[in-house]
Amino acid sequence: MPVHYPNQQEIGRINLMTNKTQSSKKHSSRLAGFYQRSLPDRVAQVAQWAGLDAGAEATLLGMTGLNSAQADQMIENVIGIYALPMGLATNFLINGKDYLIPMVIEEPSVVAGVSFAAKLARAGGGFNASTDDPIMIGQIQVLGVDNVYAAAGRVWDIRDQLLAEANDPSLMIVKIGGGARDIEVRPLIDTVVGPMLIVHVLYNVRDAMGANTVNTACERLAPMIERATGGRVNLRILSNLSDHRKVRASCTIPPEALTTETTPGPQVVQAIVEAAAFAEADPYRAATHNKGIFNGMDAVCIATGNDWRALEAGGHAYAARSGRYSSLSVWTADGSGNLIGHIEVPMAVGTVGGATGVHPSAKVALKILGVSSARELSEVIGSVGLAQNLAAIRALATEGIQRGHMTLHARQVAMAAGASGDMVTRVVKMMVAENNIQLERAQEIVTQLRESEQ
Ligand code: NAD
Repeated sequence: MPVHYPNQQEIGRINLMTNKTQSSKKHSSRLAGFYQRSLPDRVAQVAQWAGLDAGAEATLLGMTGLNSAQADQMIENVIGIYALPMGLATNFLINGKDYLIPMVIEEPSVVAGVSFAAKLARAGGGFNASTDDPIMIGQIQVLGVDNVYAAAGRVWDIRDQLLAEANDPSLMIVKIGGGARDIEVRPLIDTVVGPMLIVHVLYNVRDAMGANTVNTACERLAPMIERATGGRVNLRILSNLSDHRKVRASCTIPPEALTTETTPGPQVVQAIVEAAAFAEADPYRAATHNKGIFNGMDAVCIATGNDWRALEAGGHAYAARSGRYSSLSVWTADGSGNLIGHIEVPMAVGTVGGATGVHPSAKVALKILGVSSARELSEVIGSVGLAQNLAAIRALATEGIQRGHMTLHARQVAMAAGASGDMVTRVVKMMVAENNIQLERAQEIVTQLRESEQ
């Protein structure tokens, strides 16, 4: 969701507050004036910050990166490579550690929004985040049993054998401390196909997203389950509702940090709490509220080569767990008037496997992040989701979304009208001055400017 860039007064006030916040890392993620630098200067700065080599810098600058031969190995019928911008979110302090966070996204103002919100959170000590063990769920669907409850009992009787089979010591994942942790049985009755027994395999996938690992385990256990139940196994597949593998992130924002030119901090706190209550109560609002959260989380997923559809599927299913779709975050005020934000969301991401180790830009993104495990990556992504949520609802609850978004949106409109280089800025200035940001108007201005240049 697009957000408003803070004005100089707001930035100054927050700077004063966040300068007091100590970080345990040698260097801070507060890169003053980063957005005003040229792209090559930004790359040089982040390379120094993260200790990137010349190859990684070349990848960021678009001189190297995913090539046709690699792309051709990744999916089917490859006919090209589709590029997206990678931005860098600054100011993040998570569990006392500074992070610069690469985000890949086509939508303007998301990167600016999370960076601003991270600065606000810094004023209250940054984000606190924690994760569950990386337990994914594999599902095995058993049909054709006479008594689904008796079949469930027979699966439970062979639970130890199933776990032993899944935890074959020769498996790589078992050698590194992963493997099956438990079995669950869920009898279901369907009006069309009749009774079915769903067997869950709870599997610790360590630093992988885990889909292939879990699918392989389900296929391995299916014949044992058929023999035990006398039924027929149909599907054997991971569940994307990975609710045993959640991340939680929270932040505390002092009301002074939220003061705007026109609105005192306590009033902004109240407006944000009211906005959050709207999302909690109304699925129509919750969908947009959560979309903002995924604006942030997906962009880090994409940057790191992770499967953002898996994240979306798990998050939205979790948001509907009560039977009614609701908000993934909660915003309240504490007794001192501070704004308290909290998010809890399933987080199936990896630092190994999938595209993480294949896509050259994903490898650079992981290096910039400096995370040592999938759990740490989850904590970063959860914090980014909460930050983007704060940026969006703060803007909505104060001056509205369009003010800050207008200039950024106008840039895309100008480019769509054929402007490039300096002309983009000139077209944007004219459209903003006229308060008329439309493709047709941009095309007229581009034509006029081209004629005047001839
Ligand atoms: P993967 O298939 O590449 O497997 C991970 C591999 O890394 C395993 O062989 C494991 O042994 C090894 N490994 C090395 N070090 C490890 C460590 N520290 N922790 C864990 N494993 C380690 O990757 P995956 O995560 O099993 O599968 C992810 C891919 O599957 C994604 O590309 C996803 O899009 C895709 N997928 C998703 C779904 C779904 O979401 N429903 C279904 C099928 C496939």
